[in-house]
Amino acid sequence: MINRLIANTIPLLPERFVWLFSRSYIAGESVDAAMSACRSLNSDGIKTTIDILGEFIRSLDEARKNRDEYLALIETAQGAGIDGNYSVKPTMFGLLIDAEVCYAHIRDIVAKAADYDNFIRIDMEDSGCVDLEIDLFRRLKAEFPKNVGLVLQAYLRRTRSDLESLMDLHTPDVPLNFRLCKGIYAEPRRIAFQRHEEINLHFLEDLGFMLQKGIYPGIATHDRALVDGALKLIESYQAPRDRYEFQMLYGVTPELRSSIVDAGHTMRVYVPYGRHWFGYSTRRLKENPKIVSSIVKSLLLN
Ligand code: FAD
Repeated sequence: MINRLIANTIPLLPERFVWLFSRSYIAGESVDAAMSACRSLNSDGIKTTIDILGEFIRSLDEARKNRDEYLALIETAQGAGIDGNYSVKPTMFGLLIDAEVCYAHIRDIVAKAADYDNFIRIDMEDSGCVDLEIDLFRRLKAEFPKNVGLVLQAYLRRTRSDLESLMDLHTPDVPLNFRLCKGIYAEPRRIAFQRHEEINLHFLEDLGFMLQKGIYPGIATHDRALVDGALKLIESYQAPRDRYEFQMLYGVTPELRSSIVDAGHTMRVYVPYGRHWFGYSTRRLKENPKIVSSIVKSLLLN
């Protein structure tokens, strides 16, 4: 009840307050800040996936600018020798305004990544975007089989059936590559599992399916129970170390992250940067309203 109240209040919080929370979860506002975060992660043996913050744009002009920003980012990161790939949110390229324009922009970005033999991950947004994002992935995967992947959300009731229906794109030579996460958007009960245990159960079932079929999973979680469950599945399917990876968000649970890296598993960190940090940060605050009280403390102590 109190958490729900806090969650509803979060979008109304002043930017300065939200920034106090955000600064540890965002690489910075500039591409230079992103490069330095990636270099530091790479030097700890961690790969990256860089995300330019922004979503739900209002005009196709913004979509074009966002595409150009990604194209420039790829040139910069490749030039800097960063060991990492890129994540995109399709609504930032006009998915909900004109899906064809969005497709054309993301195609340009995937083509640029493919020039460097690199990879673009299509993030999964709220349930109103899922069909459109799967269609987008299908079209891009047909043209760039090795250079594009998708995210699937374990909390959605439809995810297992989506996984099965995407198997027609899977071959042992070029396996499907899916990031599996719990899902971060507020979705109604008829669409998404709500309870922690239910979501975790489906997460591990979906992961088991992926490992059994030889899909390359990006296991995206900070939940120790899921990390332990994933390690058991990896062992029982005898998945070789180059057939899966763990993924975490920048700045979240660094100790758990180090323990996975130290045990020799591949780890990739999602590095968000850019001017539009407010939406990203408020979603994460809603997810962890307890953090609000620690910010209040830090405000009082500053
Ligand atoms: P939780 O039970 O939520 O968290 C476990 C513990 O981790 C918490 O107790 C807390 O200690 C810590 N923790 C988790 N999140 C935070 C945080 N933000 N700040 C501080 N501590 C935290 N969701 C989508 O819907 N679409 C996507 O495309 C997407 N991409 C993602 C990419 C990556 C690499 C990751 C790691 C997550 C992504 N997510 C995405 C978010 C995901 O769906 C979950 O909402 C998020 O990861 C929290 O779930 P959890 O598995 O970490 O478990």
